[in-house]
Order: sequence, then structure tokens, then C-alpha cells
Amino acid sequence: MTVQQKKDKNREMSFYKNNYEHLADELKKLDLLIQLRTAAFRLKIQAMQKTAASQHMYISHEEVDWLLSQNDPFVADHPDLQKIRNQLEILQNEINTRVNTTIERGVFLALPKLASLFGLSPFELQTVIICLAPELHRKYDKLYAYLQDDITRKKPSVDLVLDLLCETEVDRWRARTIFSGHASLFRAGILHMTDDPQSPSGSSGLARFLKLDPRILNFLLGNNSIDARLVGVAQVYNPPSTMDHVLVDPLIKTELLNFARNHFSAQKAVKKRLVFYFHGPYGVGKRDLALGICGQLNCPMLCLDMDLLLAHGSDVETLLRPAFREGLLLQAALYLGDTDVLLKEDDKAKSFFKKLAKVVEEYGWLTFLAGEKPWSSRGIFEHTTFHVIKLPVPDVPLRVMAWEKALKNQSVGTGKEFAAQLANQFRLTPGQICDAAEFAQNYRASKNGQDEITLPDLYTACRNQTNQKLSELAVKIEPHYSWEDIILPEDKVAQLKEICSQVKHHYRVFGEWGFDQKLSHGKGLSVLFSGPPGTGKTMAAEVIAHELQLDLYKIDLSGVVSKYIGETEKNLSKIFQEAETGNAILFFDEADALFGKRTEVSDAHDRYANIETSYLLQKMEEYEGIVILATNLRENIDEAFTRRIRFIVEFPFPDEASRRRIWQTHFPKKAPLGEGIDYEFLAKQLQIAGGNIKNIVLNAAFLAAENGGIIGMEHILHGVKREFEKIGKLWSKKELNKFLNSKSGGRP
Ligand code: ADP
Repeated sequence: MTVQQKKDKNREMSFYKNNYEHLADELKKLDLLIQLRTAAFRLKIQAMQKTAASQHMYISHEEVDWLLSQNDPFVADHPDLQKIRNQLEILQNEINTRVNTTIERGVFLALPKLASLFGLSPFELQTVIICLAPELHRKYDKLYAYLQDDITRKKPSVDLVLDLLCETEVDRWRARTIFSGHASLFRAGILHMTDDPQSPSGSSGLARFLKLDPRILNFLLGNNSIDARLVGVAQVYNPPSTMDHVLVDPLIKTELLNFARNHFSAQKAVKKRLVFYFHGPYGVGKRDLALGICGQLNCPMLCLDMDLLLAHGSDVETLLRPAFREGLLLQAALYLGDTDVLLKEDDKAKSFFKKLAKVVEEYGWLTFLAGEKPWSSRGIFEHTTFHVIKLPVPDVPLRVMAWEKALKNQSVGTGKEFAAQLANQFRLTPGQICDAAEFAQNYRASKNGQDEITLPDLYTACRNQTNQKLSELAVKIEPHYSWEDIILPEDKVAQLKEICSQVKHHYRVFGEWGFDQKLSHGKGLSVLFSGPPGTGKTMAAEVIAHELQLDLYKIDLSGVVSKYIGETEKNLSKIFQEAETGNAILFFDEADALFGKRTEVSDAHDRYANIETSYLLQKMEEYEGIVILATNLRENIDEAFTRRIRFIVEFPFPDEASRRRIWQTHFPKKAPLGEGIDYEFLAKQLQIAGGNIKNIVLNAAFLAAENGGIIGMEHILHGVKREFEKIGKLWSKKELNKFLNSKSGGRP
């Protein structure tokens, strides 16, 4: 061999090329240990045979003497054994050096990794190797049976391990602690202890067999498929290399990343477990953010399905432990979403939580918990850094990005054109935006013919994502009316149009132009509609909703205001929370119930009513959509409240000209109208509001449907009679005749 060849050989010998080379060396070492043990055994037999004159079928005196003198120094120090010990020492040193150099080179070696992950001592690791060997080579079955002096005992037992690894009896006793159930090897499920099937009840601790866990066997062989028990419950995600795709406020991303990096920085001596709790509405990007952070920390993420875990009931630990152990083996962060169920105050949730906290403390180096509700750990996690992050619905620019991404595959133009509009209009999370885009696509697909998604499709889809629960608290009104239906003085219509334009440009003014920085509150659009009943307040709300393509919810305040203290706030809070996602228009009818004047606080309930009112005002000011309060009597509304309202629109009682137009617009084009309908006459003679006109027209239509099929003046007048009866106005025959006379008199 040349000098150069020698050098190359030496360099090659200084590290392991891969995990398998190292395993092979460890088996060599095991062979030497077995050799040492068998050599010692044979020497002892020889020694015994020297002492014992003959062999008997029963236990002889000589054998007993021999057993009692087992630690014969002659045998222990025998040069043959010493030779093997020397070989062992040389090999061990060589392995140590090569392992260190290999790890420095960044090559994965499973055994040292296992030891460092679970804090195993060299003795424990050697035990693992003894249990691993028969899985790699069948010769160990024979060797172990031979060493245990029993052809049926092919598996390694506690006794065998102690025999192979301990020189003296005292060493054996000391080593026994690693075989207790609480010791690392068994707590972490690296080894399992089983009874000797030949004598299950009679096996002493020493005789019990040791079995290597199948997942650990895979790990040692460099196979990283997850634990079979976790298939279906957990899924590994490989993170992307950048966080650019994570549609979360960049400030939050940076803060989190710095926090995590600092926590795991090499300079930190004590490394506590780290648990992040992300809370925010559905689809806000909790999992994406966690995965993004994993990408930056260069580790995969193991996601657990909360429902499936919980389905395991009290047995959940049998999944939680392997799951968190898997996190260690894969060097993956753990992610548990939907943790809201754990915040419940029932026993099941509490017990689950305790178990979770326990495994986190044992194995959870980095854990993400995520739910919708805010939460503080209240000391459940000891020795753990617990960091809470709130993820709000993203602002318009991020929503635009989410829309562009969701509509990317749509026909050219659609994405960019619609994204800004939709982002501005709906406060949806990126997840909801994806769902909405998909919904729109399916909706379009279900309609044959045109396959391009339209803006109305997307609006429908967006509304479908929101306000699902709001219908429990409010009545949803389908807005049918548009500008041409409502008859109001010009300046009132202009006022209503201004309200619409404020919604359209909300983000430009508050976001882009920075007005939100100047105003601590009052960004919401609060509107008061006042006017006599039936003058078009609800109708105007519908027109606005129709124009802006937003949902309209009517809330009857008398139903929300509860006599139970605190309940009203709860109801109001629910309403606003639910409405927020869709920017729905909230229409509070009969607002006087809350905003009515109170001269002085007379009883406890009044005091609470005051609290409720300021609570509603606060909610209205925080709300980014439109809140409309309607009242019949503006005078009833306290000045202090009207001052805080952005728009006040007074709905006048319609004058004659308006009444005429209202009469006219109330007959649909398709309705069969008779010749003689005198709108002039009706408008002049009947001083009634639009609401009454609507009722009369409808009654007349039904009457005509029953009699003749053509709507005539007589049907209308009958309708007037009914409406007057209803509202308590007198309608006598005399009056009718007077009207009819004036009618005929007034006509050419
Ligand atoms: P309010 O909310 O003021 O009590 P509504 O808006 O519910 O009144 O009015 C009831 C119905 O009366 C409307 O659906 C519409 O048919 C009719 N109406 C009322 N005011 C007008 C108006 N200004 N222009 C046209 N129709 C009106």
C-alpha cells in the first residue's frame, strides 16, 4: 500500500459514510461482547468440571459450590478474556471517534440520535443494540438461545443484557434500574417488556424478554414512515422554503419567527419546551403560519386530527404519546388545531388537556395549538414557554392577494378585476376566500352553458361563507328594492347614496389614506333613520343592501334586550361578531327601546339599560359595516346618542306628489289594471304613508283576483276601507260617498 493509499484509507476510516456502516460496527462490538461472555462461560465450565468429579442429573454439591464461587478472579482475569476486552476497547474508541467526526459532517447516525433525543445512557443504548441485532441477523437468535442455555429463548431477556454488559454482580444490580417501567427506554416505548411465553406467570424480572418497538426499529434503519398507530390520525407536512405564501400580517410573521429563532438559538443554555397558541377565526391561516415557521426552522410539521384523537376517549394517551414521540423522531413540530373543544369545562376536556400537557412536557419541543377563541394556559404547562398570538381577519391588501390566488385559475382578467372589489366588500379570511371561490366555481359548473365565474356568483358565494349563525339572532331580509322603487325627496336619496359610497371607499380612506390611525373609534358607519311608520325606512335599508350586494339583517331590539342582566350584551356581542365577516348591514328596528330618553335612573334595571346602550354604541363604532337604527320618533332618542351617529336621515311623510308616485310604482307591470284608476285622486284624498298604500294595493289585487280579474278603482277603495279599519281611521259610507262624489266631480 502506498503512502497516499494509506492516507486515503485512514481518512475513510475516520468517519462513517452512512448509518449502516455505523450499525455494522456496533454489531461487531456486540459480537465481541458475546465472545467475551461465551469465553467466560466456557472458562467457568472448565473450572467447574475440574472441581466436579462427575456429572449428575440432579444438582450436585460441587455445582452448588461452583455457583457460589462464580466470581472467581481466576476466570475474570483470564488472559483470553483480557484479550477480548482489549479488542473491545479499541473498537469502542474507534467507533466513538468515527461517530463524532461523522456527526460533525452532518451525516445522520440513528443510534447516537436516538440517545440524544431520549437522553439514553451508553448502557441503555447498548441494550437497544442487543435488541436490534436479532432484527438484523438471524444468527443472534441462535447465539441468544445458546447464551441463555435454552433453545426456546431466542429473544434477548433482561438477564441476557445484564450478562452481556455487566462484569460483576454489583454492576448487574445497579443496572437493574434501567429496566423499571418508569425508565426512559420503556416510558418512551423504545423497548417493550414481555413475559416468557413458556412460563408467563413464573417469569422473574430477569427472565422477561425485551422487544424493540417497530417504529424505533424503522428509525434505526433510517426509515421515516410514521408510527403505524398514527396512520389516519396524524399527517406529516413538509414546509415550503419561504413564508411569502402565508397570508398573515407581515408584522406578526416577523415577530413570531424572531421569537422562535431566539428561543431555539444555540446560545441559550436552558431550552424549555415552546408552545404557541394561535387564535383567530376559521381560515385565518393558523396552520399555514405554523407550517411557514417550521419552514424557517427547517423542520417538518406533524398535524394531529383533533376529532380522531378525542374519539379515543380515555385511551387518548395511547395515541398522544406516540404522536409526540414521532415529533421527536422526525424532528417535527406538532400541530393540534381545533383546540376550542379543550376549553370546555367538562371532565373529558380537562383530562385530555392534562394528558396533553404531560406529553408536551416530555417530548414536545415545539408545539402549535390553534383554536378560534382566546385562551391563556393558566399554568397548565409547566417548564414550558407559552406564547399566544392573535390572528385577526387580514386587511384589504392581504385579502386582495388571497382573492387573486384563489381566482388564479379562472379565465384571464377575472382574478385581478374582481379581487379588489371582493376584498373590499367582505371581511373574509383567506380560508373562506378559497372556499368561496370553490363554491362559485361549483355553482357555475352546475349552471350549464357559460363556464366563466361572474361577479354575482362570487357575491353569492361570499355571502354563503358568512353570517351562518346570524339567522338565529336576526331576520334576514332579501333585498329586492332598488333606487327606482323608493320615492323620496332628492336630497334624501342623495344622502342614501352617500352612505353607499362611504362603504365602497371605506378601505381607501381609512386604510390607504391612514384615517384609521387618526381615529381611535368611530370608523363604523352608524346611521339613524327616523320618520313615521311606513315611510320607507326599511325599504331604504333594502335599497342600500341591494346596491352594495350585502346581506341585510333586521334585529328587533325588543327581542334582544333581555331582562336578565348581562344577557343583552351577550346577544348584541353575538350579533356583531357574526355579522362582521360579511359586513352585513344591521338594521335595528324600534331603536327607541335602547336609545330612548331617560330622565333619571330610577331603578337597577335602568342602570343596566344604560350600560347596554353604551355597549351597543361601542359595538356600532367598532363595526366596519353599516348599522342602521330606525325610529318612528326622533325626539325620543337621546341627544347624547344622536351626536355619535354619522348619518341621520329623516323620512318625511310623503306629500301629494310623492304619494301619487308611490301609488303608481306599487302596481307591477304585469298586473291587470282597469282604465279608471285615478292616482291624482288617491294621492290627494288619502293622506297616508307608503306602508298603507302598499297594503291597500295588495288587498285590492286579491279582491280583483276574486272578482273579475281586473284591478279597478272599486277594489282599491275597498282596500282603503280595510286599511282604515285596521289603523283605526273611520271610514263611513258617508265618507266613501263623499270621496266618490268628489271623484266624479273632480273628473272631466
Ligand atoms: P318603515 O320602515 O318606515 O316603517 P317600510 O319601509 O317598511 O316603512 O315601508 C313599507 C312599505 O311601504 C314598503 O315596502 C313600500 O312598499 C312602501 N313604501 C313606504 N315608503 C315608501 C317610499 N318612500 N317609496 C316607495 N314605497 C314606499
